[in-house]
Amino acid sequence: MIGMVTITRNIIKITALCLMLAALCSCAPKYARFEESFTGEFDTYTVIVGYAHSKKEFDGYVKIIRDRLLDLHQKYDIYNSYEGINNIKTINENAGISPVAVDKDIIELLKFGKQAYDDTNGAVNIALGPVLRIWHSYRNMGLEDPENAKLPPVYALRDAAELSCIDGLLIDEVAGTAYLTEKGMSLDVGAVAKGFAVQLAVNDAKEAGMTFALVNAGGDVVSVGGPRDGIRERWAIGVQDPIKGGQDIFDTVYVNDASIATSGNYQRYYTVGGKRYNHIIDTETLMPAERFASVTVIAEGSGIADMLSTGLFILPVDEGKAILSKAGGEAVWIHHDGTAEMTPGYEKISKTFGGLPHESSCV
Ligand code: ADP
Ligand code: MG
Repeated sequence: MIGMVTITRNIIKITALCLMLAALCSCAPKYARFEESFTGEFDTYTVIVGYAHSKKEFDGYVKIIRDRLLDLHQKYDIYNSYEGINNIKTINENAGISPVAVDKDIIELLKFGKQAYDDTNGAVNIALGPVLRIWHSYRNMGLEDPENAKLPPVYALRDAAELSCIDGLLIDEVAGTAYLTEKGMSLDVGAVAKGFAVQLAVNDAKEAGMTFALVNAGGDVVSVGGPRDGIRERWAIGVQDPIKGGQDIFDTVYVNDASIATSGNYQRYYTVGGKRYNHIIDTETLMPAERFASVTVIAEGSGIADMLSTGLFILPVDEGKAILSKAGGEAVWIHHDGTAEMTPGYEKISKTFGGLPHESSCV
């Protein structure tokens, strides 16, 4: 009799367990993989891979990201004006004239830019506009007429540097204004704006419910959660080979909820007398930084990753490591001969150099 009761109890337990499992299975959200890409915003190609319950849900996140990127592109633009918007160009045009009332997205970017100067010991300076403009125009002339490509005169760069003092950028948070105190001053937010904007756009989509996605806006990559493909727990992201260029991958890193940005000498440059001059300018020498072929940074947010990648591309490795340990993040520095230095944390997430069990397939 006792035996019968025990068997019956067990059957009831097993049945209850099965029912629970069945309920769990049927309630468990099913995810499908979707992908979308677009060009234009921040003059770049953006790819979004995501796992969602439906195409409609995924399309909703894509729209949120795209709309926000377009909005921030206009606010952070230094070259173009837009009807009804005071943007960074407006601030530049009013240098030495008057403070400009700007949206809080601009105030936040400028505060971030000022902080970047301190965080990178002055290597990233968003008030370097006068110097960068000179390099920009010599680079454009050199690309149009390579035979006659020239370097900017040193005296012109030095004069421009006099007008590139970050303290001349005044941000009044209460009044909601930004002001450049001297005529001739100008902001160039190229080192920070895209990464900062992508993070804001992704944050909006996360708030709307996006939980598993990888957003790549022209190399500024933000990962949200992991892939839901049942194979991997982390996103596999390629670090481009700066020497071979093109689609060649130097390494693959595995990340979840982290951002990646790269600064390299292969993206924008011109050639003078057989030597390559890239678009990242060392604030000490006023010449293009040439220590590395590229630096890739992995950090919590893409604003920080983008800003640090530019700063670390300029500074010596040791200084970069000290900055990283304060700001938080990992990095790989790729030298011109193809050798690399990296932080211990980078090794742990690296396919080529590191500790993680290798997971299959790349995104
Ligand atoms: P990319 O725009 O190619 O992703 P970066 O994020 O490194 O590369 O930003 C490079 C841009 O940053 C340059 O095109 C220029 O507009 C700006 N820049 C270059 N040097 C500096 C610097 N020392 N401080 C601040 N901004 C810089
Ligand atoms: Mg950058």
